[in-house]
Amino acid sequence: MSASTIPNATLTATYEAMTPGSAALATKARGLLPSGVAHDGRHFDPYPLYVQRALGPVKWDVDNNKYVDYFGGHGALILGHNHPTVMAAVHAALDRGTHFGACHELEVRWAELVTQMVPSAERVRFTGSGTEATLMALRLARAYTGRGKLVRFRGHFHGWNDHMTSGYSNHFDGTPTSGVVAGLSDSVLLCDPNDVDGITRIFNDHKDIAAVILEPTGASFGKMPILPSFLQVLRDLTTQSGAILIFDEVVTGFRVSSGGAQKALGVTPDMTTMAKIVSGGLPGGAVGGRKDILDWLDFEVTKQNGQEKIYHPGTFNANPVSAAAGVATLEILSTTDACDRANAFGTEVRAQMTEVLEEEAVNWAVYGSYSGIHIYTNPDGVDITPSAFDAVSFIPRMLGKSRGAGVTGQVRMGLLVNGVDMNSGPSGTISAMHGEEEMAITVDAFRATIRAMKREGTIQ
Ligand code: PMP
Repeated sequence: MSASTIPNATLTATYEAMTPGSAALATKARGLLPSGVAHDGRHFDPYPLYVQRALGPVKWDVDNNKYVDYFGGHGALILGHNHPTVMAAVHAALDRGTHFGACHELEVRWAELVTQMVPSAERVRFTGSGTEATLMALRLARAYTGRGKLVRFRGHFHGWNDHMTSGYSNHFDGTPTSGVVAGLSDSVLLCDPNDVDGITRIFNDHKDIAAVILEPTGASFGKMPILPSFLQVLRDLTTQSGAILIFDEVVTGFRVSSGGAQKALGVTPDMTTMAKIVSGGLPGGAVGGRKDILDWLDFEVTKQNGQEKIYHPGTFNANPVSAAAGVATLEILSTTDACDRANAFGTEVRAQMTEVLEEEAVNWAVYGSYSGIHIYTNPDGVDITPSAFDAVSFIPRMLGKSRGAGVTGQVRMGLLVNGVDMNSGPSGTISAMHGEEEMAITVDAFRATIRAMKREGTIQ
């Protein structure tokens, strides 16, 4: 079943008619998991999609509906689903054993690739996730500098550890979110993105800044873009003050280019946090950075220096299966044009979706950078020329706006019933496997969504 088989139904009714299997699973899940989900980003009204299998740029739900996939494993799958080389490496690793409780050859190769590809990574430490990577990067920065404060930017996401919760989607005044102690949030200083005066003032007022962390292309992979010139301002301020500059490249790493945003933009941080692509679609993360900082994890160096080493275990750090997927993925990315192909698809699909907006006279915008797509649905109804949209000036309007509700939820629903799955931003990440067929389906789905929303009176 698809949207075209029931032309006059509402988007929600069409979704419900298409997805009885998902509805049944969601009903059961609600009695077992809070809101029935395992990740807040999967919460969706009336119920989320339950997916059964995937291949390349597409996936199928439990009712056998097919979707062009822009979740891409939450950004982890730049090579698409089930890339044959990655899958062969994972299968081979599984057959040898999932956990040896020991060092192994693949982790050495993995570290070699990360340090060769990521300009800032003289040394690397593997973690279980991106959240663990940002937690470790902060701890390293504090140990190295002997200072306590962390500077973050409103709207930027760095995982869900206690230091990273305020100022992402709420608590923009820096007060602690539920379950976080006040003393801890006191050590976090929030700044507006691209605010040169604001960040200069913060550095003038605080002499105990250990680190500055940000998503180098902007919050949510460029949804709220960071100006490249602002990266240089941060590089200069941190160097002058002795603070550590951390690029959170959990999404941008190995995606924007084979060496991440830092290679593409020519600004090298002191430390880099990685996850998603680094472990080839399997669980994992990493902190890379200057040797003298990562030395705080080194038994011999800390002993020589009379320092207390940072303790860092982690059952699944550099596990052999994630290492196999990571090595296979990074080898492909470092020897092919996969990142460039995903980026080129991004430029073209954004342009074609923008044309749809112009043709349909809808004052939204489709924008983004590299292999990202963002749809701005203009909740304040201001004048926008879709082809001349400047997302930087819209950042204040985007901060704290709930996703997935109202119009954005309807856009996502419209795309779904027309065979495209984006997140509730609505935003998406592109893989190197997205091609002309996926482009055509996506643009048609966007046009059909807008027309359906006009029919239903959600937009004019
Ligand atoms: N940083 C950024 C920029 C992210 O996008 C994410 C995950 N979406 C994280 C950190 C946290 O990574 P993980 O989900 O692996 O903990």
